[in-house]
Amino acid sequence: MTDLRSLSRETLAAELAALNLPAYRADQVFAWLQKRGARSFAEMTDLSKADRARLAERFTLSACAAERKLVSAQDGTVKYLFRLADGEYVESVVMRYRYGLTICVSTQAGCKMGCAFCASGLGGFSRDLLPGEILGQILEAQRDLGEMISRVVLMGMGEPLDNYGNVLAFLRLISHPDGLNISLRKISLSTCGLVPRIHDLRRERLGLTLSVSLHAPNDAVRDRLIPVNRRWPLAELLPACEAYARDTSRRISFEYALIRNVNDSPACARELAGKLRPILCHVNLIPVNDVPEQGFVRSPAAAVAAFAAELEQRGLPATVRRRLGGDIDASCGQLRRRQTMQNLGTPGAPAPLK
Ligand code: SAH
Repeated sequence: MTDLRSLSRETLAAELAALNLPAYRADQVFAWLQKRGARSFAEMTDLSKADRARLAERFTLSACAAERKLVSAQDGTVKYLFRLADGEYVESVVMRYRYGLTICVSTQAGCKMGCAFCASGLGGFSRDLLPGEILGQILEAQRDLGEMISRVVLMGMGEPLDNYGNVLAFLRLISHPDGLNISLRKISLSTCGLVPRIHDLRRERLGLTLSVSLHAPNDAVRDRLIPVNRRWPLAELLPACEAYARDTSRRISFEYALIRNVNDSPACARELAGKLRPILCHVNLIPVNDVPEQGFVRSPAAAVAAFAAELEQRGLPATVRRRLGGDIDASCGQLRRRQTMQNLGTPGAPAPLK
């Protein structure tokens, strides 16, 4: 059965018209699903019981149930582990900034990209999320917190451009005036570099911010960290980014996780500055979250500062990302991995959560 929350405003109207429901019903149902975060048809109390029953016969409502919630004592960051209807788990993180709440949502359960330093891929790939399931993370977090979310980053588990159709449908739903009505200017999408999809996204002219997980100044280093680079090397990725910035007039945000003795030397910084100079962009430096299995360790603070200074000196704007929620495993994939290993009774699974 079709997930009603995943349907566009137009398709929803057509489906309800086909059931001989009056047009205003589509307005009500869209608001229930998109704005009010209804979890069931029974909640839609301004519809007749008979209408609710007819909807329930033909459609499902994607579920996104908070299985665990962790709140950082340090900075108020909230992490949710959501359980989807089929038992898959995804994670979302809500961060508190001066200008409001930002949520980081997942777009897939698991990931196929296999980046060497990333926890999300370790458990393998399960499936794409539906538009309604990406939206559901935001609706459930708002409902739980009793506060509105003002910014969204598609930077949780999964590769958004590997679930392109559903992610695009989600972007249309969330920015719909009758839905949550969050401007695409307040949304960032992060990709590890699926070049053909970057070009597709550019042609959509959506006005969202594109973040690119670069993490390396050359193919030798990037091949090792991000397998996708072997398919679309920097000679293809960087021109795609340049075209995106040019055609959308939006600054690209390059993510660069600093890993000790892998990509954090001053020579790396100089090489990076040289390659990014023609692009309207900004570099976001992230001290890597240690991955002991791979021998990846965070760069010392002095190396991070020196790296940033090299970039700035060469005219490349750079910031060092503040680390939020360090006490609650707030980074991508960490919690799902823990939950899955526990469910499977995997020996050596990380300590259980309280
Ligand atoms: N697939 C998308 C979005 C999800 S990953 C992408 O690759 O951009 C979100 C961000 O977290 C990416 O920039 C990713 O490279 C980064 N990341 C993953 N593991 C990390 C780690 N151990 N330390 C720091 N950043 C990490």
